[in-house]
Amino acid sequence: MKSYNNWIGGQSLPAQSNARFVTHNPADVRETVAEYPKSGQAEAAAAISAAKDAFGKWAALTPVARGRILAKAGQIIEARKSELAERLTREEGKTLTEATGEVQRAADIFRFFGGVGYTHGGQVIPHDLPGNLLYTRREPLGVVALITPWNFPIAIPAWKMAPALLAGNSVVIKPASAAPAMTFELAQALDEAGLPKGVLNVVVGEGRPFGTEIARNSAIAALSFTGSHAVGSSLYQALAPRMVRTQLEMGGKNPTIVLADADLDLAAGLVARAGFGLTGQACTATSRVIVERSVLAPFLERLVNKARAWKVGPGLAAGVDMGPAVNEAELQGNLDAIQQALGEGANLAWGGARLTDGDLAHGWFLQPAVLTDVTPFMRIARDEVFGPVVAVMAVDDFEQALAVANGVDVGLSATLVTRDLKKALVYAERIEAGVVKINQISTGLALQAPFGGVKKSSTDSFKEQGAGAVDFYCRTKTIYLDYSA
Ligand code: NAD
Repeated sequence: MKSYNNWIGGQSLPAQSNARFVTHNPADVRETVAEYPKSGQAEAAAAISAAKDAFGKWAALTPVARGRILAKAGQIIEARKSELAERLTREEGKTLTEATGEVQRAADIFRFFGGVGYTHGGQVIPHDLPGNLLYTRREPLGVVALITPWNFPIAIPAWKMAPALLAGNSVVIKPASAAPAMTFELAQALDEAGLPKGVLNVVVGEGRPFGTEIARNSAIAALSFTGSHAVGSSLYQALAPRMVRTQLEMGGKNPTIVLADADLDLAAGLVARAGFGLTGQACTATSRVIVERSVLAPFLERLVNKARAWKVGPGLAAGVDMGPAVNEAELQGNLDAIQQALGEGANLAWGGARLTDGDLAHGWFLQPAVLTDVTPFMRIARDEVFGPVVAVMAVDDFEQALAVANGVDVGLSATLVTRDLKKALVYAERIEAGVVKINQISTGLALQAPFGGVKKSSTDSFKEQGAGAVDFYCRTKTIYLDYSA
């Protein structure tokens, strides 16, 4: 079992109370993965204070110098890829293949933002008069708080930390308690890469005291949060009185529309991968499948065949397609959502039961579930279910499919499967989502492209990922210089 402490001001520190908690392997809860300090408000305050002290010197470096440290951290992470991926799987549950891809993604993100250092600057704007220089400077905000969920325990901390640091901010991050190890490993890699002490601080523990401290502490200049809408909206309101810049990326209810002209084998494969891959525990997972009625039966047959063949088991075992839910509460939430859907008139075409054969009884395993006869007003068609559960709905035509897809209050990722170019382009125009996929899975993002939701999925003010992600983490100053006299 690995033991971690908070990382504050470049020191490894326990919680002041000395209280600790442990994480268990969700594939076999008899295994304890790691032990952590159970931090409260005092640790959050100490981390913010360390970040405040470190800010000035870090901000004074050039973006190129900061970028070099990020790029080096990327190399360190990549060199440890297999070790980190294995620990990620043990703690969060996803398959080793998925975890390896995620660690690689984190390394690539640091490398990418390292390169952004060479272009991170202001703009020279033509002035109306001769002999005048008009330009902008991009300056860091100060101490930035980051709060992250457990489902991408290395990629999400990386995609927030890297642009925040590149822009010259110092950072206090609180990872989710279900899977904090990777955030500490990122801190270690950055430390080895030469990040000055105190520029990045990690505290772990309950969310509420951390939220209370960042709302109260005037040193906090911004918060970037990824997680549930309930927590995100409460933080937004808590930070509003101080008008703290806040970025929230939250849940989705992502549709995949299957039109009558679609390649149905492709469509079933995309839905299975986007619905059951990552155990459905992705904010961009497909959870609604909206199918033109004329192809419903042949599509369902293909999808059920895929679900039946989907191999569920421990993420570290060879040949496994899907690992367990992260913990008992998430598994129970999935089971409850399925029961509720059945109570409202949906039917199970496949799966939906907890798996308890042999050693699976020691983990939080669920059969991938395909619910049919779902109507747009059922809760299963409206509320996020963070698991491998897809709700299939039949529609008459493309127009109705669009109306159903847009008929929820969230909008993150949305797939259309079709061979009709015109409908694909109309879909791209009219779908209410931050990410649109045509003939591709709803999960999976290019790190160099902007990402974020619309509607209740996001504050929708700044995008994450891509070079533009740094915009959230800086302010622009405009300078007028008259040298005509
Ligand atoms: P969560 O909202 O329960 O927790 C997210 C983080 O907030 C955790 O670190 C948690 O400890 C912290 N937290 C909880 N209460 C807090 C409080 N009062 N003050 C401060 N921090 C607090 O979410 P989760 O269960 O970890 O993650 C799943 C959710 O995240 C899903 O809704 C999913 O869709 C969403 N998600 C969104 C994206 C995206 O980019 N849009 C990506 C991944 C996950």
